[in-house]
Amino acid sequence: MSLNNQPFLTELTEDQLAIKNTIREFALNKIKPTLMEYDEEQKFPREILGELGELGFLGILFPEEYGGSGLGYVEFEIIIEEISRIDPSLGLSVAAHNGLCTNHIFSFANEQLKKKYVPDLASGKKIGAWGLTEAFSGSDAAALRTVAEKDGNHYILNGSKNFITHGANGETAVVMAITNKEAGKKGISAFIVEKGTPGFSAGKKENKLGMRSSETSQLIFENCKVPAENLIGEEGMGFIQSMKILEGGRISIASLSVGLAQGCLDESIKYSNEREQFGKPLSAFQATQFKLADMQTNIEAARMLTLRAAYMKDKGIPNTKEAAMAKLFASEIAEKAASEAVQIFGGYGFVKDYPVEKFYRDVKLLTIGEGTSEIQRIVIARDLLNN
Ligand SMILES: Cc1cc2nc3c(=O)[nH]c(=O)nc-3n(C[C@H](O)[C@H](O)[C@H](O)COP(=O)(O)OP(=O)(O)OC[C@H]3O[C@@H](n4cnc5c(N)ncnc54)[C@H](O)[C@@H]3O)c2cc1C
Repeated sequence: MSLNNQPFLTELTEDQLAIKNTIREFALNKIKPTLMEYDEEQKFPREILGELGELGFLGILFPEEYGGSGLGYVEFEIIIEEISRIDPSLGLSVAAHNGLCTNHIFSFANEQLKKKYVPDLASGKKIGAWGLTEAFSGSDAAALRTVAEKDGNHYILNGSKNFITHGANGETAVVMAITNKEAGKKGISAFIVEKGTPGFSAGKKENKLGMRSSETSQLIFENCKVPAENLIGEEGMGFIQSMKILEGGRISIASLSVGLAQGCLDESIKYSNEREQFGKPLSAFQATQFKLADMQTNIEAARMLTLRAAYMKDKGIPNTKEAAMAKLFASEIAEKAASEAVQIFGGYGFVKDYPVEKFYRDVKLLTIGEGTSEIQRIVIARDLLNN
């Protein structure tokens, strides 16, 4: 029975298992040894991303003719989960690079732009950024203020973006800007802006609670002259495109959440077997066992919701509600898992010598990024009440 032809998602195919093992090994051998250095220094792991690119993990969703690996969202889930099980911060970078920037270009740009930009992104030669959020527009994304005025064969961009993953390290950015103020959401367009374009710069780099090696910066546009051919799709389609991209983004944050929660459980099992109090390992106490059992049950449920949304996406089945439910549930159980893991570690969970301290900091982003928990509930309720 394989995942690709049955709806209950209980078993991976041989190919999927091979992918899972490859990325698991990479995470243990290449990511784990240095992740706390990157975290402490808020250093962007460009070299590690380069290696992931060589393995095909930066072009997961794109066909081979564009330099990608030709895989689907189910495989995307597996890869993001396994990276995040060790380092959620790198999971976030891989998720944003694949699922936001590159996917936006691949899904909506014309053939010429796709051929020009996707191969370098898919191979990891270039890193992608995706700019929707601004100072005055977060959950209410359509309230953005960056403008793009047509000027002959160019658009002139003015404005700024906040909280952009790879804002400083990204070489290719997809940026949403207003081309027609009167048209509201339908007046927002998407552009590809290359690093080095005059008038385009990175602003403040955020000093973050968690996800510290996944760089997050402002983008600034000051009379930034972008070739008109860099418009993605048609004028006025940028917001609609972004909402579609965020639907896939929810699956990737759900996958990240499942991985983080699994990492918390792995560490909790190991530690509770080793640490003794009252002459017994912590795992001998029923209070610990119940925590582990609840974590495992929640993780399985979150993984199934996430794989189902991924499977639906791969099959072209509408999955707005399913992706939102997966993101909502998985991120909230991950928060709980991180908290329980620190509890199981006691004082040792509160210091940086053990991995659960980082999980506890990283996890908070998951109920916020790519649509907060409140926004996911709005999406789910809207779907329920409209049908
Ligand atoms: C590390 C990091 C990386 C990010 N990467 C990117 C990126 O690459 N590209 C990008 O474009 N953005 C990115 N973001 C931005 C992220 O998507 C936003 O932070 C998120 O969408 C929330 O927007 P906000 O922070 O402005 O919060 P706000 O929208 O101001 O929300 C604040 C609170 O109010 C609640 N709220 C808002 N509206 C409602 C409502 N109608 N009903 C009930 N509650 C509501 C929210 O749920 C939240 O709890 C990133 C953010 C972070 C922290």
